[in-house]
Amino acid sequence: MKYDYDLIILGSGPAGFSAAMQSTKFGKKVLLVEADAKHLGGAWINAGTVPSKALREAAASIFKYNQLFGADGASRNYQRYKMADLLRFKDQVVKYENSEVKRNLIKNEVHTARGMGHLLDPHTVEVSDHLGTRKKYRAEFILLATGSSGSKPKNFEVDHRLVVDNRSLVNMSHVPKRLVIIGGGVNAIEYATIFSALGTKVNLLSSRETYLPFLDSEIKKEFDLALSQQRMVIHTQVYVEGVSENPLRNCTEVKYRSLKDNELRVLETEQVLHFGIRQPNTRGIGLEEVGIEMNEEGYISVNGHYQTSVPSVYAAGDIVGFPGLASASFTQGRIASCHMANIDNVKLSGAHPFGIYTIPEISSIGLTEDEAISQGLDFAVGRAFYKELTKSSVSNTTLGLLKLIIDRKTLNLLGVHVIGENACDIIHIGQAVMKNKIDVRYFVDNILNYPTFSEAYRVAAFNGLNRINKSGVKYRSLISSEKDS
Ligand SMILES: Cc1cc2nc3c(=O)[nH]c(=O)nc-3n(C[C@H](O)[C@H](O)[C@H](O)COP(=O)(O)OP(=O)(O)OC[C@H]3O[C@@H](n4cnc5c(N)ncnc54)[C@H](O)[C@@H]3O)c2cc1C
Repeated sequence: MKYDYDLIILGSGPAGFSAAMQSTKFGKKVLLVEADAKHLGGAWINAGTVPSKALREAAASIFKYNQLFGADGASRNYQRYKMADLLRFKDQVVKYENSEVKRNLIKNEVHTARGMGHLLDPHTVEVSDHLGTRKKYRAEFILLATGSSGSKPKNFEVDHRLVVDNRSLVNMSHVPKRLVIIGGGVNAIEYATIFSALGTKVNLLSSRETYLPFLDSEIKKEFDLALSQQRMVIHTQVYVEGVSENPLRNCTEVKYRSLKDNELRVLETEQVLHFGIRQPNTRGIGLEEVGIEMNEEGYISVNGHYQTSVPSVYAAGDIVGFPGLASASFTQGRIASCHMANIDNVKLSGAHPFGIYTIPEISSIGLTEDEAISQGLDFAVGRAFYKELTKSSVSNTTLGLLKLIIDRKTLNLLGVHVIGENACDIIHIGQAVMKNKIDVRYFVDNILNYPTFSEAYRVAAFNGLNRINKSGVKYRSLISSEKDS
């Protein structure tokens, strides 16, 4: 046999895992190489998506329970709930998800090798394990799915004691009373709302001009309202100049300078949580040696099949850049695997959803209202505020908005934006309707379970149709698909 394997994959995160699963379904012999000596599943299971979502669910449950039954007035959530209990829950979830990855790999007969893999040529990978042993493997195809890592701060050190990151926050002995989060991306804001829900006074320091700038502006306004009700302050356009311990005041001091007025300010805190900018794990994997092209930002350049400039080598997941999500990585790995099996019509098409697991959560797909305006489209907006839904009353959650961007002529959806409970789940109803070009009357003509958050689609569709009606289109023709005369 010319090759040892049909496919060798570097990295067992969502991109590598899904490619392995799909390729074994095609009857391919797969070797999965993982640098982490203990765990499979990458940042997805061990440091990113799954642990943060487990902590988020725990914090959201505590927040909700306390709003309903818990207020004793005497103590805050951070005093009542133990970090150790939250971490125990997170560990339990991570352990289970780890075992699921392992079970699936074994069931589908994927071989694994532990160690750092790097390319020697377009068909050969060398794996160096923790003892320094090196072994070469050859395959018809290679998939690079080595993920990304957070950049290190310049003016202070992540010592995993005063300053922790998303991996070492497990070192926190208790839910802090005060927390400074440094970073302005989605993960930083998610963690800010997690701790805020636990009663921690959170200050978030970001060098960016604003936060979550890609959101529909009305959804952002609702989010700002939610933040103002929590004990959180977001400082934008600031640079952290240093972090140090102040034993006299028994606190940690974070010195930061505002770009707006150049003032140096100090925040006293108990704990600092740092989120670096995500950077692709491209070093030391043999890209230059084999001639794999990268873009100006250092991500691997790929075509629509996730194939690199070297035809036998594919790349997927964070290593290829935007959107840098587990959700997208799963699909990218699968598309690469299909192309290797000569199926080239499996491709990403149209808009894809974004889920932001803040408290409250946010999700969107397609055009925002501002984008529809700037493109000069003829559209109407349909809104449903959560406080209009029975499900919200019974769930004791009134903050929330679902917004539909509707094409006036076809009544098809151009965009869906949701903030509020279950936003990241119910977005997929809009996604299915949008992708299949079913018009918004679907939501008013069909029975939807009651009470549900999904009902927001019905309310928003009625709202949008009413607006189109008011602008002169006959209501009868709107709801019966007869042509307006
Ligand atoms: C705090 C946080 C929260 C997040 N929350 C979400 C979320 O809610 N939803 C979402 O969709 N995404 C989320 N993400 C993003 C998501 O985790 C990543 O987009 C996703 O894990 C990327 O998948 P990947 O397959 O590219 O790589 P990873 O999951 O990063 O896996 C890469 C693997 O490759 C291994 N590796 C590296 N170099 C080598 C080598 N040379 N040889 C062999 N193995 C190697 C690494 O050890 C690692 O196991 C979050 C990220 C973070 C940090």
